Amino acid sequence: MGTDVNAITERIYEDVLRRNPAQPEFHQAVREVLDSLAVVLARHSEFAELKTVERICEPERQIIFRVPWQDDRGEVHINRGFRVEFNSALGPYKGGLRFHPSVNLGIVKFLGFEQTFKNALTGMPIGGGKGGADFDPKDRSDTEVMRFCQSFMTELYRHLGEYTDVAAGDIGVGGREIGFLFGQYKRITNRYESGVLTGKGVGWGGALVRTEATGYGAAFFASEMLKVRGDSLDGKTVAVSGAGNVAIYAIEKVEQLGGKAVTASDSSGYVVDERGIDLEVLKQVKEVERARISAYADRVPTARFVAGGSVWDVPCQVAIPSASQNELDSHAAVTLVRNGCQVVVEGANMPCTPEAVKVFQEAGVAFGPGKAANAGGVATSALEMQQNASRDRWTFEHTEARLEEIMREIHASCHATAEEYGAPGNLVLGANVAGFLRVAEAVHAHGLI
Ligand code: NDP
Repeated sequence: MGTDVNAITERIYEDVLRRNPAQPEFHQAVREVLDSLAVVLARHSEFAELKTVERICEPERQIIFRVPWQDDRGEVHINRGFRVEFNSALGPYKGGLRFHPSVNLGIVKFLGFEQTFKNALTGMPIGGGKGGADFDPKDRSDTEVMRFCQSFMTELYRHLGEYTDVAAGDIGVGGREIGFLFGQYKRITNRYESGVLTGKGVGWGGALVRTEATGYGAAFFASEMLKVRGDSLDGKTVAVSGAGNVAIYAIEKVEQLGGKAVTASDSSGYVVDERGIDLEVLKQVKEVERARISAYADRVPTARFVAGGSVWDVPCQVAIPSASQNELDSHAAVTLVRNGCQVVVEGANMPCTPEAVKVFQEAGVAFGPGKAANAGGVATSALEMQQNASRDRWTFEHTEARLEEIMREIHASCHATAEEYGAPGNLVLGANVAGFLRVAEAVHAHGLI
């Protein structure tokens, strides 16, 4: 039986490679899920008969479009926009938009694939999708970003809808961009369709806690992982990478839970502050001034800026990589283990390479995969949609309590599934299997579509 199911997953992987050439991030994401599914296929022969895994690996729809816009000097630029509507078995497609020069179809597909399982893990009625553009918002004026967002939405709007496809932020897309995107959608459609985008401003349909949700959720998830080990974040030294939405609020919640976050980074390097990151300064530098991370060290005497280099050289007990995919490789993992790191929680999507994950698992380091650990953002987006649909508005405390409860449930479900499928403590397997089963059961119920 074992050989058979492995042969099935191998054949599926070969097929994915052949049909999706030159998309290494998508291949990597599929490989990781397939590696977890042999145990499922061994128990459920119907998944092989009905080609359930193959269907879930194939996006329902892939949209690529031209985005022309003019900069402040009148120069014309052409970018490429994407929306991959991956799976709608559990609800409307739901997932963020990424604006970064590295964006291509393979990256959007990897993110949409991950999103499908992540959204299933939240237990909310949302399918999986992702989008973005190879636009670099860095050093662009507000008016340039607005013109880009308007041009982008002028094509994207026809694919979105609160019951069809609901977009949100990701790297390079924060509150400012969501505002411009929503404004253009409203203008074109002549509809105040609040539920079509999440991460809106709290004054016009946004939910309290959505800004903080992914980072807070990752910290709650770390807390749950430590609890299983009879421990807590209290007194722990924590290394965080990134200095964007996820990183800033992971640091904030770690500090509220008694931990000490000592690092932050961006693509220029990292800062280390042994006294604990001063959040007020970090928010001023990154959220208000949109400056480089070195500006933090210029203002905080206890901090030091390291140009380039690896933030994972800084000794810590808990690591929360929160910048981008494949930012933590096996070399960094070995360094973390050598320095006594006990828990790694992915705040970003797939920030650890497969080799790094292997190093952690072999060393007995508890590892929380992104599709579970960073699901707090999308879960709170679903809470935003719920408030929009009922024309209601929840308090910060109520929404945060819901977020904490959802993160606890996601952790419990991954933990229990890992045990049930013979891999206690393996949250990668637990998350993949629990997420897959929810999607697969709905896919079957809908017939061959
Ligand atoms: P932001 O744009 O707010 O911040 C990203 C941060 O990571 C910036 O500090 C950026 O530095 C750094 N970064 C990005 N790419 C690279 C790179 N290639 N090398 C080094 N540093 C890099 O994005 P978010 O915080 O929203 O997203 C971070 C991660 O979390 C992504 O993987 C995203 O998919 C994931 N995520 C986000 C969610 C959300 O709600 N926002 C939800 C779930 C997952 P610089 O400015 O120099 O580029």
